[in-house]
Amino acid sequence: MRYVQIDTQSDPLSNTQPTTEKQKDLSQILIQELLTIGIKDAHLDEWGYVYATIPSNTNKQVPVICFCSHVDTAPDASGTGVKPLLHHNYQGQDIMLPDDNGIVISKKDFSYLEKLIGNEIISASGTTLLGSDDKAGVAEIMDAANYLVQHPEVKHGTIKILFTPDEEVGKGTAKLDIQKLGAEFGYTLDGGERGSLEDETFSADGVQIIIHGVITHPGYAKDKLVNAVKLAGEILSKLPKDQLAPETTEGKQGFIHPVRVDGISEKCTIDLIIRDFVTAELETKEAFLKNIVEEVVTSYSGATYEFKITEQYRNMKEVLDLHPQVIAHAREAINRSGLEVNMESIRGGTDGSRLSFMGLPCPNLFTGMQAIHSKKEFISVQDMNKAVETIVHLAIIWEEKSEMKAQ
Ligand SMILES: [Zn+2]
Repeated sequence: MRYVQIDTQSDPLSNTQPTTEKQKDLSQILIQELLTIGIKDAHLDEWGYVYATIPSNTNKQVPVICFCSHVDTAPDASGTGVKPLLHHNYQGQDIMLPDDNGIVISKKDFSYLEKLIGNEIISASGTTLLGSDDKAGVAEIMDAANYLVQHPEVKHGTIKILFTPDEEVGKGTAKLDIQKLGAEFGYTLDGGERGSLEDETFSADGVQIIIHGVITHPGYAKDKLVNAVKLAGEILSKLPKDQLAPETTEGKQGFIHPVRVDGISEKCTIDLIIRDFVTAELETKEAFLKNIVEEVVTSYSGATYEFKITEQYRNMKEVLDLHPQVIAHAREAINRSGLEVNMESIRGGTDGSRLSFMGLPCPNLFTGMQAIHSKKEFISVQDMNKAVETIVHLAIIWEEKSEMKAQ
């Protein structure tokens, strides 16, 4: 409740790093708190990253693991003047938020509330988001770190703590020094319902189609002019309406999604995003799209096109499958915390997918956060405690499964 009152909203339009200086306000406090609990190397770098180490207290050779979350909050709703409210012993009622009577957190919209009967629930007051995304993750890692430091009898290897800026604007790993971090495996704490474990994201490409028309004076254009804007329209109209689109797919289905059209009759550009859980399927979708473009453009004499593909990110499962112990240990830690594991796929990307391909295999653990990026955001304190337990169990399990150091 203390961390969410510090405004750390990131800014998608900023070119600085971090995108907003105020994110460091929270990071500075985290550094002070880490130093106070005895984590001596905690520091904030110029880019807004917090690095800290809990030293190993075992004779075993344990891989270095990292727990990571982001300090920024999403630009989708205000993060200024957040007033967190604690609702004691939730009994299933609609939660009215005092600063805006129109904002109600109800079971009708969030069936998960049914599972939170008897819990303490934290929400914002109606005019801002809460920021549990991802200050819940931050708080849970801080609490677990404190526990591990206070309990030397709990054996673990070297544990790295990482707090990043700018995750919400896609720049969370931009200036991360993965060498300096020095971890072999990681876990982001940036997921939702208790027990959930995310090991899959989309693989993602961007496609840009540039259509060159043939331009003449429109008064004397008969049989000469080819209007690039119209060709763009024709291409878009040929995209399937009942499949392959975000609005017609779910689960493990991928899509082709035009996100921007920009042009004049001489030249028109269409930007699209291509998504699939299977990377090879991106190529299939791109070939399908290119075929439509080819067909349309070549039917007009003199028109030409360019078709540019940019890799955006890849499904982290490709990396995680090479290191099955990362998921196996997470499953066991969740079980030891008394929860059922709920494996989920993210129809999007995360910092975890970027970290995985930077050499730090990194699935995403639950934090409890709900209705994120909105004024209805809420979280259960009991769920947060389960996330802390899971972190501690993970530290223990990695140590248990490791071998003694060679003498
Ligand atoms: Zn997040």
